Amino acid sequence: MRRAKIVATLGPALDERDKLRAAVEAGIDVVRLNFSHGDHDTHAKRLETVHECASRLGRGVGSIADLQGPKIRLGTLPDGGIDVETGSEVYLLPGREHLEDYDSGGHVALPVAYDYLAHDLQPGSLVLIDDGSLRLVVSRKDDEGVWARVVAGGIAKSKKGVNLPGVAVSAPSLTEKDVADLKFAVELGVDWIALSFVRHADDVVDARNRIAGLGGEAPLISKMERPESIENMLDVVAVSDALMVARGDLGVEIGPERVPAIQKAIIAEANAEGKPVITATEMLESMINSPRATRAEASDVANAVFDGTDALMLSGETAAGKYPVEAVRTMARIIEVAEASPHLVDPQPPSHSERSIGRIVAQAACQVAADVKATAIVVYSISGASIQLVSKYRPAMPLVGLTPREATVQRTALMWGTEAMMVPMKGQSTDLISAAERILVDGHWAQHGDRVVLVSGTPGGQGGTNRIMVHRVGDPVGS
Ligand code: PEP
Repeated sequence: MRRAKIVATLGPALDERDKLRAAVEAGIDVVRLNFSHGDHDTHAKRLETVHECASRLGRGVGSIADLQGPKIRLGTLPDGGIDVETGSEVYLLPGREHLEDYDSGGHVALPVAYDYLAHDLQPGSLVLIDDGSLRLVVSRKDDEGVWARVVAGGIAKSKKGVNLPGVAVSAPSLTEKDVADLKFAVELGVDWIALSFVRHADDVVDARNRIAGLGGEAPLISKMERPESIENMLDVVAVSDALMVARGDLGVEIGPERVPAIQKAIIAEANAEGKPVITATEMLESMINSPRATRAEASDVANAVFDGTDALMLSGETAAGKYPVEAVRTMARIIEVAEASPHLVDPQPPSHSERSIGRIVAQAACQVAADVKATAIVVYSISGASIQLVSKYRPAMPLVGLTPREATVQRTALMWGTEAMMVPMKGQSTDLISAAERILVDGHWAQHGDRVVLVSGTPGGQGGTNRIMVHRVGDPVGS
């Protein structure tokens, strides 16, 4: 029984239906639609196919729309890219998608699709291109653009990312493209929306207001990849619904050597606040081209589990790699083995005050379940909030969520250890207990005579987890 979840980024590598189906069977819990690539039609078709595969397999697979955010990119360059030599000086032209001529008086000229480039940079500022493969230092500015000395050269290719470490980037947190993508994602009915390059809590609040204005209710995942989001971590975590340790851009911005400790800090803070957290990027990077993971990658996946992450994400491995199904299968196996190891220590659970009734009840339910040797905990929930609460106290036995809403089944797919199912919630509580018994027995989570713990809230109150019941499967339930 694997508890930590797998998020897989969709892309051409999983566009064949049979491959996608095999990857879902291999363990995808949640798919990520990466809005940095692909058009709306492609995302809609991919999500439809995911839902078809999931319903054929009788599984709820969740979805994340990952907005590009104010990512700075090069514009379009000639095919094959441009050789940028170490020691040369290049001319960066802001707000340009392409150039008529990529030579400026014998110097390489590069278009950068970001209007405020010259405003934000100063002589001495560092400019990193393509995840830091090319490094430039700004030497001077003129009326049209920015001159920079190349300290590490290479081939500059079309649309590659540009990072400005240590620079307070002026771009708004949601670009025009993000606003259009957000509307589309809400219409598409994705389960989660991920915000890239979050800097402070206001970025999250602003996105939440926009989603509400569109009539949506998708919860927000803040991608922790800007130095400001790390400085403002407590505030950002407090207003977010979930977090992502987005190690790709984070590593470029702050240096890869600082990523491991920051990963632990973000995971710990998310756990303390009772919010799901995803660890992302380069987890099985070599599997883009190889059917086997390296030992270092296996260690990285296992260590994220030991750190207490709820979910682990595959990016290029499933979007564009040669072995997407094998990557999912490999990740699932590494997680399972890590979870069975004696090194797994439950993370510090969320703290609570006397007013956080839901947390107190969730923690007590896990304790009761352990004490009575329950074979499963069942949580009834409309919104999924109670399921999330119980998940955060890491029950040792299976956690089965029951909900009348398909959206909740899909949303809770991201949550550690959760298996959610649909049940109608109209009848008496005795009907719900009978439904739970049926689902537990059919799913092999319990059998006749086993004790199970049922967690619920007073009917009508969303998130109002306040009841714990111990029940023996097969015993009369009364009304
Ligand atoms: C990252 O930078 O690690 C990340 C997850 O974001 P993206 O894949 O959108 O660059």
